[in-house]
Amino acid sequence: MAVQEDEPTARLKAYEGRPAAVTGVGKDPVNLPMIRHWCEAMGDTNPAYAGPGAVAPPTMLQAWTMAGLSGQRGRTSPYTELLGLLDELGCTSIVATDCEQEYLRPLRPGDEVTFDAVIESVSDRKTTRLGTGYFVTTRMNVRAGGEPAGTHRFRVLKYAPARERPDEPRPRRPRPVVNRDNAGFWQGVAEHRLLIQRCTDCGTLRHPWLPGCNACGGPDWDTVEASGEGTVYSYVVVHHPPFPAFDPPYAVGLVQLAEGVRMVSDVVGVPHDKVRIGLPVRLEFRSCDEELTLPVFRVVER
Ligand code: ZN
Repeated sequence: MAVQEDEPTARLKAYEGRPAAVTGVGKDPVNLPMIRHWCEAMGDTNPAYAGPGAVAPPTMLQAWTMAGLSGQRGRTSPYTELLGLLDELGCTSIVATDCEQEYLRPLRPGDEVTFDAVIESVSDRKTTRLGTGYFVTTRMNVRAGGEPAGTHRFRVLKYAPARERPDEPRPRRPRPVVNRDNAGFWQGVAEHRLLIQRCTDCGTLRHPWLPGCNACGGPDWDTVEASGEGTVYSYVVVHHPPFPAFDPPYAVGLVQLAEGVRMVSDVVGVPHDKVRIGLPVRLEFRSCDEELTLPVFRVVER
């Protein structure tokens, strides 16, 4: 006897094969200004994407179909219904997980883009670190001047956020991934020393630790110990999603060390909404649990 699917899953799977978007039309034809902005944002200087005979970068495929802030055109009622049904099942949160693209022909300036999309699959109920829910995969077929140009398969997880149970021990912070390239850094941290790699060929400092020098390619290095003085070069305040062992909102800083390199770490000593670019900070070592010590940066009182 076949295992009977639970009833919500069967209702969700009934949407497989139904349209997610029909007769979508790109807001602009493929054009050089959008290609140029994309390439600048990506740092892509490939000459194939500029000048006479330019083609669009293949990975721009989805960009030509995006509706922008003014709204999604062509979204179908089955797709809206499916998302509504997931909301009713308590899967009110959504996160994009991955996409896959296939390219069938290059897109060139002047090409008019049209597309449609189908709900390709709805997964069984899955439990992830974020919560329990369903992966929904849509496949968009993109055409240029009516010819197939590519496909864009896009997967989201609609889920009910996992809640921490007060009776469970608090989860520990994630462990750093220590490997042969960065083991010296973590050895330094264990000794309460913040070590910066220095290329012994050209003297350039680098962080995070890498097997070679970005400036000269040299493989040899030694270390200098950071003074611990720095300033907040940039920061973000994390509100969402919640991760075990972290209590949002919290500030994550990109700290410019006095030696010139930058590193990402916690900015502590002030509330998250008082962190500002330019604040002076000083290194300290925080013991998170019996195994984990992390370098963090405390705002210096002025
Ligand atoms: Zn070097």
